[in-house]
Amino acid sequence: MERVFNFNPGPAALPLEVLEQVQAELLNCQNTGMSILEMSHRDPVYEKINKEAAQDIKDLLGLDDEWCVMFMGGGASLQFSMVAMDFLASGKIGAYIDTGNFSDKAIKEARKEGRVEVIFSSKADKYNRVPTMAEIQLPDNAAYLYITGNNTIEGTEFHEYPDTGEVPLIADLSSDILSKPIPTEKFSLIYAGAQKNIGPAGVVVIIARRDFIKGREKTLPTMLNYETHMDKESLYNTPPVFGVYIVGLVAKWLKKQGGLVAMQERNEKKAAVVYAALYAHPDFYKAYAQKESRSMMNVTFGTPSEELDKLFAKEAVKHGMKGLKGHRSLGGLRASIYNAMPMEGCEALAKYMEEFYQAHKSDVVNEPEQK
Ligand code: PMP
Repeated sequence: MERVFNFNPGPAALPLEVLEQVQAELLNCQNTGMSILEMSHRDPVYEKINKEAAQDIKDLLGLDDEWCVMFMGGGASLQFSMVAMDFLASGKIGAYIDTGNFSDKAIKEARKEGRVEVIFSSKADKYNRVPTMAEIQLPDNAAYLYITGNNTIEGTEFHEYPDTGEVPLIADLSSDILSKPIPTEKFSLIYAGAQKNIGPAGVVVIIARRDFIKGREKTLPTMLNYETHMDKESLYNTPPVFGVYIVGLVAKWLKKQGGLVAMQERNEKKAAVVYAALYAHPDFYKAYAQKESRSMMNVTFGTPSEELDKLFAKEAVKHGMKGLKGHRSLGGLRASIYNAMPMEGCEALAKYMEEFYQAHKSDVVNEPEQK
């Protein structure tokens, strides 16, 4: 069977070259005579894979040894709790920016651990935008500011990041990690579930300043203390080895593509093709996100009716495109165009959007304009 253009939001498309390498090495990893799936995580071959994956991510982001990269399980959702457990104990306030379903979840978990203040929310606008920098005012006594860099469900993204001065900035970058360069000097801790831009489900990448992680409460459960994972270089317990291995291959693939500046250029061009098709017929396609906040990774939109949305996603399969259905909480349609989606996929989608419009524009009964 031909491979399709996979617009799934996560787990999502992986670079074909990476999948081919995984396939080629699956039975015999680096001449060990065994699969990576069978290897001890204490084997020097795995230790090297683990170290290199962390180093390659640091290289891509231009980070020095003041930073560490950790790999953990538990999904990005565990980080909602871990961030609060590790950094709210001081009695200070966790300042949160609420821009979508996943920030909302993070806020709910943080409230179980300490004091939280939501300093901006676009909930009343159905999360169709992120704040401007002027809308962000930190409370006194903030332990950190928490943001969701890209809102996977709603299709909005921060295109600049706040200056928080002394206050650490923590970000969930699950759905735009390594899709563009970021001003790392502004951040203290970044985490991302790998299953969108950098690997398979089962592994979370945490990128943090060492001095921010150091000195956690000794009463924290060992596995929920970032310091454990920093000190043991992600080998305190058995890490999700297969996931880390693939993240490592993806990081090398990203380097080969020219790094994050090249990825951003490519991702911007891809997104521009899809958004152009979307904005071409405002009487038919409705963009979900406000333009200034629109995501380069998840394009969210709808047709004039639920029936047409369904038909759009169904017929797309016949054109070799899958995964275009919107999130169940929002309905509509969503095209996730992460790092591994080639330009050809975006062009095929744009072409299909135009054809679908031409075929169905007359299905729409235009209500007479209200005077
Ligand atoms: N944060 C964001 C931005 C996400 O997109 C997701 C998953 N779609 C999560 C957190 C939760 O990730 P997980 O399912 O790995 O817990």
